[in-house]
Amino acid sequence: MSRKLHEKARHLLSQERQILPLPEFKDRGGELSIALAYPNRYYTAMSNLGFQAVYWLFNQAPGTVCQRAFLPDPEDIPEYRRTETPLFSLESQQPVRSFHILAFSVSYENDYPHLLTMMDLAGIPLLRKDRGESSPLVLAGGAAIMMNPEPLADFVDFFVIGEAEEIIGSLTETLRKGRQAGLPREALLSHLTGLEGVYVTRSYTPTYKADGTIESFTPQEGFPPRVKKAWLKDLNASVTVSPIVTPNTELSNMLLLELSRGCRRGCRFCAGCYSYFPHRHRDAGLLAKAAVQGKGSAQKVGLVGAAISDYPEILPLGREILQEQIPLSFSSLRVDSLSPELADLAFQSGQRTITLAPEAGSERMRRIIKKGFTEEAILGAAETLAERGFKHFRLYFMVGLPEEGREDVKAIIDLARKIQHHALVKSPGKKKPEKITLSLNSFVPKPGTPFQWHPLEDLSGLNEKIRMVKDGLRKERNISVTADLPKWAYLQNLLSRGDRRVGKLLLAAHKLGGNWPQAYRSVDLNPDFYVYRGRPFEEILPWDFIDGGVKKEYLWKEYQAALLEGKESAAC
Ligand code: SF4
Repeated sequence: MSRKLHEKARHLLSQERQILPLPEFKDRGGELSIALAYPNRYYTAMSNLGFQAVYWLFNQAPGTVCQRAFLPDPEDIPEYRRTETPLFSLESQQPVRSFHILAFSVSYENDYPHLLTMMDLAGIPLLRKDRGESSPLVLAGGAAIMMNPEPLADFVDFFVIGEAEEIIGSLTETLRKGRQAGLPREALLSHLTGLEGVYVTRSYTPTYKADGTIESFTPQEGFPPRVKKAWLKDLNASVTVSPIVTPNTELSNMLLLELSRGCRRGCRFCAGCYSYFPHRHRDAGLLAKAAVQGKGSAQKVGLVGAAISDYPEILPLGREILQEQIPLSFSSLRVDSLSPELADLAFQSGQRTITLAPEAGSERMRRIIKKGFTEEAILGAAETLAERGFKHFRLYFMVGLPEEGREDVKAIIDLARKIQHHALVKSPGKKKPEKITLSLNSFVPKPGTPFQWHPLEDLSGLNEKIRMVKDGLRKERNISVTADLPKWAYLQNLLSRGDRRVGKLLLAAHKLGGNWPQAYRSVDLNPDFYVYRGRPFEEILPWDFIDGGVKKEYLWKEYQAALLEGKESAAC
């Protein structure tokens, strides 16, 4: 047992401030104890509203106590191993393996390997088939899981597909009663049949054709052929707000407040839009009340939603929060719903860097991805912001989009220069923006979106496009380009569109200390099959068993419309 690790946990706890009431965590406690794990560091996890919200919801469930666990900081992992300290919960510092349930909240596919690291550090057998009565039941949910949980199917006993508010009450009650009745784990899992949004892994069996595609995906008797995503019909039934603020996180001392879920725009690449379908939003009155709760504890309120400038009451809500002397933070703003009043509000609340997401440089490309605003709207937004005194811009673009040609990539360079110029013309004193950060991401086709059938562009093509943008803007002293490494986009795509067999790669990479190239070589599975292959409509996709509310036929129609747009307006 390492004193150093326990002291670090106590220090983190001592710096937290509670916004919502939580129980006192003297020991593990509860008829049902849950270790809620985020598969990344505390610093990242505590800026994740989904994780924080689930923590609070579990602790509201009768007879249930939930404590948090995190992936240790990299420098602490050797200390865990050297001192044989099992991974422990933050609150009462009890071993994670002593809890009844280990629940992972997973937002990003690239965190999948961390689930294995955490189970390993906790002393819990990695494969569900190796776990017995003394191990916790392992569950996973979250944004990534909602799209496609299959690569984790060998490691997780059951998944929650959907929104926590809808599921947690019935789930904790079933588990608690099952435990009271002394049910063994297999019987307990069987009891979960029929709960909306619960997917018990062992009860579904995939078979494969000779060409590697899925032949069938069959449920055991009594389990539904498709798992219906659970979603909260009335967002006003609960307010999603962070119960804890801390200085030790990316969004330091910030209270996060969710305005809306889903998005009415339907951009064809956007997982946030399709996974959280249908679009819903909360009443401003409820939100203002929740924001004021944080007064005195939080230094800022961060507004969260897929497209927050589309929120119909953004101005009255923002003004009401500002009147309470609580600064606001806006994430990305959509250029075509950015009014001068909204820009004023953002500036008055102390924000100095503004994020815009044109996503693509050419209008042709924006039509293909259905990000339907014009260059005029983008430049108009830059002018509006510059006029109000904004000097720092962050611009999000993607490369590797379907039907993208060199001209489309060149258009990113041109658009960045034009934004700089228009901001200069309109800024007080006619000065160039002090800083434009162009953030370039490789496009990763996501399950459940119209581009789910589309192959990832090969790594050399992505690298070349990134180089092209960097070279094209090298002479612009005020514009810096940051880009992700395409090899991580490859891994992300493998983990997001893989089937159950991809679990073998995850296990191999874990055993090889995260050496993915070696893992690819050591397993008889071709990762390119999942990443670089376009799929036909008829193919059974690994995530087809999820009923997310949007018909596959509709997604295909949107995909075909995008390809047709690309052909009709072929890039030079
Ligand atoms: S506007 Fe933004 S949030 Fe809405 S669908 Fe498009 S990319 Fe997604």
